[in-house]
Amino acid sequence: MKAEIIAVGTELLLGQIVNTNARYLSQKLASLGIDVYYQTVVGDNAARLRKAIEIGRSRADLLVFTGGLGPTQDDLTKDVLADYLGRGLYIHASTMERIEQLFGSRGLHMVESNRRQANMIEGCDAIDNAAGLAVGNGLEADGMLYLLLPGPPKEMMPMIDGPGEAWLRSKLSEELPLYSRLLKFAGIGESNLEARLIDLIEAQTDPTIAPYAKEGEVAVRVSTKAGSLAEAQRKIDDVVDQIKTRIGEHLYAKEDIPLEEAVVKLLRASRRKLACAESCSGGLLAELVTNVPGSSGEFVGGVVTYTNEMKHLLLGIPMTQLEGEGAPGAISESTAALMAERVRQLADTDFGVSLTGVAGPSESEGKPVGLVYFAIAERGKKTLVHTTHLSGDRGMIRLRAVKATLYRLWQ
Ligand code: ATP
Ligand code: MG
Repeated sequence: MKAEIIAVGTELLLGQIVNTNARYLSQKLASLGIDVYYQTVVGDNAARLRKAIEIGRSRADLLVFTGGLGPTQDDLTKDVLADYLGRGLYIHASTMERIEQLFGSRGLHMVESNRRQANMIEGCDAIDNAAGLAVGNGLEADGMLYLLLPGPPKEMMPMIDGPGEAWLRSKLSEELPLYSRLLKFAGIGESNLEARLIDLIEAQTDPTIAPYAKEGEVAVRVSTKAGSLAEAQRKIDDVVDQIKTRIGEHLYAKEDIPLEEAVVKLLRASRRKLACAESCSGGLLAELVTNVPGSSGEFVGGVVTYTNEMKHLLLGIPMTQLEGEGAPGAISESTAALMAERVRQLADTDFGVSLTGVAGPSESEGKPVGLVYFAIAERGKKTLVHTTHLSGDRGMIRLRAVKATLYRLWQ
């Protein structure tokens, strides 16, 4: 559950008082396992308070208000929220009795505005205020929770510690558990993926669809609240199917595993083996693949042939291919193909993959930063060479090149 604390009071904005209530409430909510995402301060102004409610609703599930429950005209919190939700206000009988008694016992004349402290928003639960007159409100509406507490700390603190906490706990235990599934994609950037799903993301409220990007891969989390695992799976499957029809060719896993693990699993399933020859990636492909536990069954090993001499010495690539007048050079389609083919033959595997390119920061062989060739040689098949132009710093280019190679291998 995501919470936002909205402290209402112009004195707070003017710096006349310190917002100690926000701090107290944040600590309390944290102790209840509720994540506070935002703290807002807004003046005693109906239009701006309305705006704060609107923003709060867009980014939190629970709004906790403090301040503005008093009797005067600048105490607006209940009126504004009720109006915003299209609900009426009514008088809380026992609070009204307390107010009347208090005024009676002191021989004071009760003015109409004092009744405001007994206001309740239609459909809410009363949060009793033992230290003051303004009754708190706890309201569940449109899948949101609202807790309204007064401003004076000596009233607010015992309320949140007692009836406020009890009310929150009752709502938390009613909350349905959250189920989610992570979908992992490769061969597509985050912005491209988002562009192809944007209408789904915006239209979909349950389950929700949220894209993420990390370490050269993109992921989408599909989440829902449901009464049972079976119900959640049905709802999630439905959305996953829709996503699949859009970008299924990039979906490599329906669980949180890296691309290299998906590749290893695929090789395992088809009982095939892989070897690699790396230049610009400096062994990163071997590093990622060997990070997958048990990958020795699929990955036999590889070489890092960074210089031309090593490409010649270890892979037997002719020096005339690599350098000299009219030679294709180390960074070329044909060298990538030769590297993949040679390492596959030497290791006697089903697949040989290679990478050669310019990771930067400066160009090489007159070729631009980010240009990477990678090749996949498969036993009995024609070698495929891919050309990519990658962006990012040296580390990102290397990682993206390796992920692009793994993606083609997975395909
Ligand atoms: P009242 O019945 O006193 O008017 P209220 O619920 O309307 O209560 P406010 O009028 O907003 O609350 O604030 C009353 C007093 O409570 C403030 O003058 C201030 O001393 C204190 N107070 C209000 N908000 C905060 C806050 N966020 N942090 C600390 N103290 C606060
Ligand atoms: Mg007040």
